[in-house]
Amino acid sequence: MKKLVISSGAGISAESGISTFRDAGGLWEKYPVMEVASHDGFLKNPALIHKFYNERRKQLVTCKPNFAHIGLHQLEERFDVRVITQNIDDLHERAGSKNVLHLHGELMKVRSLKHEDRVYTLTSDNLETSVDTRDEYGDPVRPHIVFFQEDVPNFTKATELAKEADIFVVIGTSLNVYPAASLLYYVKPGTPVYYIDPRPAPIPEGTAVHVLPMKATEGVQWLIDNLKE
Ligand code: NAD
Repeated sequence: MKKLVISSGAGISAESGISTFRDAGGLWEKYPVMEVASHDGFLKNPALIHKFYNERRKQLVTCKPNFAHIGLHQLEERFDVRVITQNIDDLHERAGSKNVLHLHGELMKVRSLKHEDRVYTLTSDNLETSVDTRDEYGDPVRPHIVFFQEDVPNFTKATELAKEADIFVVIGTSLNVYPAASLLYYVKPGTPVYYIDPRPAPIPEGTAVHVLPMKATEGVQWLIDNLKE
């Protein structure tokens, strides 16, 4: 089976009702990004960070995967599909995708502040954490999110997947956030690359990319109709 590697960004979840950064409504204006999504922000005001991610979780459990997530799962019947996502939501998993690599962490998880490898999944009846939350060892926890100014631990794995791709598809990302945006450069020369986004970012010169200026749901339907095994 051909390896179909997908690199998804916030745009794939937009049709599920989760705002992207670029198309922000009140959300990112109410909370400056560097206060709620940076390492310094967490040191400065951890209570605000807990509050912010509690709100994001409460929103996420009300959202459902859309046809873009579901169609990628359907493509598993014909391709070896690997999803690399910048998203912290769990909509790829809820649509059934088997292989999902999160570059920027996972909203529904928290981890110990003392032992990074102690990661805990929250449940829909237990979505809130605070500076006073303790894990089973009595240690404080933080969102299992990669903040700005922190390393991206899954990036090396992601570059390996990009190198192995027979087909590479970027969906719903402004190609603004590094290192995620650089995955394109790891694809083997000659590999077909598609970029689905209704307002695509300019493509770096010298990269042969087929741009599909459409919404994620339409673009995934296009993939289903046009990709050849
Ligand atoms: P971005 O907000 O910078 O860009 C989103 C892109 O999605 C834009 O290019 C926009 O044109 C496109 N888009 C909007 N509607 C779309 C649709 N219906 N179909 C397809 N594309 C659509 O987001 P980004 O480039 O992913 O990076 C921002 C960072 O924000 C990432 O690190 C990401 O983890 C984080 N983020 C995550 C979520 C989430 O988990 N759902 C939501 C917002 C931001």
